[in-house]
Amino acid sequence: MNIKVTLPDGTQREYPKGITGFEIAKSISEGLARNAMSIEVNGEIWDLSRAISTDASIRIFTWNDKGGKYAFWHSSAHVMAEALESLYPGVKFGIGPPIENGFYYDVDLGDKDFGEDDLLAVEKKMIELARQNNSFTRKEVSKKEAVDYFEKKGDEYKLELLKDLEDGTITFYQQGNFVDLCRGPHIPGTGSIKAVKLLNVAGAYWRGNENNKMLTRIYGITFPKQKELEEHLMMLEEAKKRDHRKLGKELELFAFSEKVGMGLPLWLPKGTILRERLEQFMRKAQIKAGYDPVVTPHIGSKSLYVTSGHYEKYGKDSFQPIHTPDESEEFCLNR
Ligand SMILES: [Zn+2]
Repeated sequence: MNIKVTLPDGTQREYPKGITGFEIAKSISEGLARNAMSIEVNGEIWDLSRAISTDASIRIFTWNDKGGKYAFWHSSAHVMAEALESLYPGVKFGIGPPIENGFYYDVDLGDKDFGEDDLLAVEKKMIELARQNNSFTRKEVSKKEAVDYFEKKGDEYKLELLKDLEDGTITFYQQGNFVDLCRGPHIPGTGSIKAVKLLNVAGAYWRGNENNKMLTRIYGITFPKQKELEEHLMMLEEAKKRDHRKLGKELELFAFSEKVGMGLPLWLPKGTILRERLEQFMRKAQIKAGYDPVVTPHIGSKSLYVTSGHYEKYGKDSFQPIHTPDESEEFCLNR
């Protein structure tokens, strides 16, 4: 039996039922198959190795797509976990998601102090594991199987995560000697991870709750090419030099005061000149583009916010009304 597969440009192709994303990529071009990292199937991002058994709209992701980077960095978090487990047996794992630039994993290292040297050791181990080019294999497991596995391993964090999952929706992924509770998707194998940098370590409460134990959050980033890592690290250095918090202080543009509120800049004379220049530039550009400036009040009647729905949704936190002295009218701050 065949299924209909719709490509991003709208063309449709027929493939045998059970075809994988990797095979579809290969049928399009060898280059695409080589660079493919994940596939979007009817709006969900999947592993390339997963069989597709219904008609589907698909999009194949490479490193150049967000979906490709997501799978790459997500997979890298698993490799970091594998490295940690091999270096520090008994380490327990919280969650390890991809983020905008890289990934992190929250881990419980027991009493171990984790410093700069450890980061380098983990990086080295990750490269070693990546070179083994282990594939990421997906396995559907029952809730009982999953609970048994993590009970035996003694990982209370995964057991807690499992509590919120329903039977029939649970998957394990394994690469090398490491098994993780995970929804995926992952890249086909660890071999495309060529460059690794662990960036920093921070404390993070389990599930973001300060009553829970503080775990160690390790941030890292990986690339398919060493050169890309070097460029990224250079970019981070350059960004540090241009950090507005650093420049604002050095150039005496603005200051902050705890009394006023952190994150609320107090513009100093030089900063005010700069700010006004920018405002003038913006105003000129807007007028040139055909906009007619208008001015609206800083406050508005509460009924306006009731109509817009903001009052119901955000009123408690952000739109507490200001009352007139005789309490006859209520206003909210415009934002
Ligand atoms: Zn995963």
